[in-house]
Amino acid sequence: MLHKKHARFCALSALVFGGFLSTATQAAVVASVKPVGFIAAAIADGVTPVEILLPDGASEHDYALRPSDIKRIKSADLLVWVGPEMEAFLPKAAAQIPANKNLELADLNTIKPLLVKGSEEEEEHHEHAHHAGSDNHDEAHDHHHHGEYNMHLWMSPEIARQSAVAIHAKLLELMPQSRDKLDANLQHFEASLASADKSIGAQLAPVKDKGYFVFHDAYSYFEKHYGLSPRGHFTVNPEIQPGAQRLHQIRTELVEQKAECVFAEPQFRPAVIEAVARGTQVRQGTLDPLGTNISVARDSYVQFLQQLSGQYASCLKGA
Ligand SMILES: [Zn+2]
Repeated sequence: MLHKKHARFCALSALVFGGFLSTATQAAVVASVKPVGFIAAAIADGVTPVEILLPDGASEHDYALRPSDIKRIKSADLLVWVGPEMEAFLPKAAAQIPANKNLELADLNTIKPLLVKGSEEEEEHHEHAHHAGSDNHDEAHDHHHHGEYNMHLWMSPEIARQSAVAIHAKLLELMPQSRDKLDANLQHFEASLASADKSIGAQLAPVKDKGYFVFHDAYSYFEKHYGLSPRGHFTVNPEIQPGAQRLHQIRTELVEQKAECVFAEPQFRPAVIEAVARGTQVRQGTLDPLGTNISVARDSYVQFLQQLSGQYASCLKGA
């Protein structure tokens, strides 16, 4: 008798606990990379948690999903990502979730007209062919051979605003009971983005005409938006070593003092930048295209843009 009662209690508690666990893992917006998650967090704040697939320190160009990632995607309220030309690791998993839970930003009619062309990288394609490793690796790089547009969309304040509008609409559809909070969040995001945009414009205005090189081709949208003067990048894919011809060209410009800074990234501090800059007047800075050190919260996206702006300004304005 006692035994039976105990068994029933156990079954009940397993049910309750199991139910609790499954709601804890289910209710979330899952974003591909951190800055996309920053935008999602601004809208989802106080409504549903936001989780990021790409771990800190990993490259958006070379990631492979773990089984736990696939589980998170399948149980997500909403998946937010750029598109197959950016996150080559996502299309397969994204195809397995219902269309109304799959938000592919590059595919939106509000964002398509804002896309800018990517650069041609003949030399790097060539290099890559020589270094082709496992099949998996090759697949991850594939988008660079066909990509027409630069897909680092989170670098554009305007695209970020359109992304927020789209995430807001999706969440409203999925959680109509949270309308007030979602509306307030979008309003707050748009207002703080507009004011950060102004202050960043003011911070960068004095360094607009100063030339520089960035490590990888991630910054076009930000640079165009604020009228900066990039002279080029070392590589399109940070996992691929820049070609000799490109290095020679960058070295020549540095010697001729056409650039004041070369920017590395927190994940990538290759000796190649040191080597190219050696013996020239050029300063070395760091740009973080993924906001690695910023945690995911309501105001993270604005913080991310401000950090980027500060990183440009501190190197370009000089000592
Ligand atoms: Zn990139």
